[in-house]
Amino acid sequence: MDVHRRTVNAAGNSLFSDKSSKSKNQKHDLQSQQSLYLANAVFFGLFFSVAYFLLHRWREKIRTSTPLHVLTISEIVAVFSLIASIFYLMVFFGIGIIFHPFAASRTVHYDEEDESDIAKTSGLCLAGVSPTLPPLPPKISVEKVAPALVPAVILSSDDEEIVRAVVSGSIPSYTLESKLGDCKRAAAIRNLAVERVTGRSLEGLPMEGFDYDSILGQCCEMPIGFIQIPVGVAGPLLLDGKEYTVPMATTEGCLVASTNRGCKAIYVSGGASAVVLRDGMTRAPVVRFNSAKRASQLKFFLEDSQNFDSLSHIFNKSSRFARLQSIKATMAGKNLYIRFTCSTGDAMGMNMVSKGVQNVLDFLQSEFPDMDVIGISGNFCSDKKAAAVNWIEGRGKSVVCEAVIKEEVVKKVLKTSVESLVELNMLKNLTGSAMAGALGGFNAHASNIVSAIYLATGQDPAQNVESSHCMTMMEAVNDGKDLHISVTMPSIEVGTVGGGTQLASQSACLNLLGVKGASKESPGANSRQLATIVAGSVLAGELSLMSAIAAGQLVKSHMKYNRSSKDVTKLAS
Ligand code: ADP
Repeated sequence: MDVHRRTVNAAGNSLFSDKSSKSKNQKHDLQSQQSLYLANAVFFGLFFSVAYFLLHRWREKIRTSTPLHVLTISEIVAVFSLIASIFYLMVFFGIGIIFHPFAASRTVHYDEEDESDIAKTSGLCLAGVSPTLPPLPPKISVEKVAPALVPAVILSSDDEEIVRAVVSGSIPSYTLESKLGDCKRAAAIRNLAVERVTGRSLEGLPMEGFDYDSILGQCCEMPIGFIQIPVGVAGPLLLDGKEYTVPMATTEGCLVASTNRGCKAIYVSGGASAVVLRDGMTRAPVVRFNSAKRASQLKFFLEDSQNFDSLSHIFNKSSRFARLQSIKATMAGKNLYIRFTCSTGDAMGMNMVSKGVQNVLDFLQSEFPDMDVIGISGNFCSDKKAAAVNWIEGRGKSVVCEAVIKEEVVKKVLKTSVESLVELNMLKNLTGSAMAGALGGFNAHASNIVSAIYLATGQDPAQNVESSHCMTMMEAVNDGKDLHISVTMPSIEVGTVGGGTQLASQSACLNLLGVKGASKESPGANSRQLATIVAGSVLAGELSLMSAIAAGQLVKSHMKYNRSSKDVTKLAS
């Protein structure tokens, strides 16, 4: 556990567990582990043989009417041995606090080894092996936790004091960055404080190797580390004559391999093409009047084309990239939901559109003083929720992507037939989804690809909800020989500036696709291109998964790529 060795010095240079010292200690650990097993075997043997001996003697005494308290030397020795072995076994199987040396040596095993190795070599469930995390109540004082959890922490006195202050609540955790002026040190201190307060180990959550300054005030508050998600690549995706190597961050086995296969099928068939039908981010505040009649007056005012210029002038002041495109107002009783749509350059645009909407609301308040603004977002936007309004009207980028896959490619690469794919698509993606009452879910697994690319490229992963709305269509063409496949995705919400796109790893993935940052030629070109890449990758993913299902290979390939040979039951703590 990192916490046993972690040092945070006053200058903010945290000295975390040293990998090389881990390897040096491994030999020693192996030896102590072996002697531990030997000791276990001896005490087990002792316990059972002595217990058997005493029971046997007891029976003899009852039979010969000898008083039970009269003990021979061998019986006295046996009783002491029994007590000693019971004490040892109790210490080993639960009462770790009694016997520190053992607790410590077993802590090292947990520290130094991969969990699976422990499971393999010890043959014991981890819950029984590791006493490092005794079940503790959620809130425990430092004094109670520190000796058990962090016996070897070498903190500078300053940092140790701050950790204690955070644990006790006298320094609010969220103020660490501003108080210390050092984001990394703040994160390291918070990490330790969290371990102590919760009594839970954060081992495995890395601290080193991340730029904590880059997320301050923008991406994440109160950081304690970062999670690692592997990034794979699928491709080349041949789309509109360009080749893309598509980064996908995922922990789902098969996904990248499958998308890669789809890319290959598209490539050898001559590529895919995509068209962006619409590009506009939306925000819909809800406002209330005293009567429906009055609400309707604002609706007609907003939708009157004669007022559009003045309204867009006010709206567009929010940013040099925000350009109002349309206003659609819908009523529910005396409440009005006003859906503003605007272009946002290369930004995904939520902040931009919200600022523009606020400008317009401020203006409207003077024209309609009886208007009561209930909320800047009235859910008719509709952000991060499955909603028909996005499916029908679109949100972000509305993209259609298509390809014709040749008959021999369907056979050789996808291992199925055009006929089977068309039939499966009709019965699964169209009819099956209709039967399920799907909203935008007329596809096999668009969200798999969308999420993986979103994570890799710093998009808002929660927008996967509406960004994954997709209708996959398949049709036999060229006298029924070849396959025409298309994906229609009305609300792909992506940006190449702002939010998580500026972080180092995500920025590298955008760079790989050639769409990093703001487009120099035309604002919005990079984000639109990214949207087409998302759609093209979804096309590849749909093609491959549908083929696997049509060919009956799905379960087989998942057993091969998506199943670890590790015994996960032994890894559960
Ligand atoms: P979002 O609106 O997606 O939440 P931000 O609030 O971070 O993103 O807005 C994007 C920021 O990037 C704005 O301040 C905008 O002025 C700036 N910017 C620079 N170049 C561009 C561009 N080409 N397109 C859009 N925004 C850009």
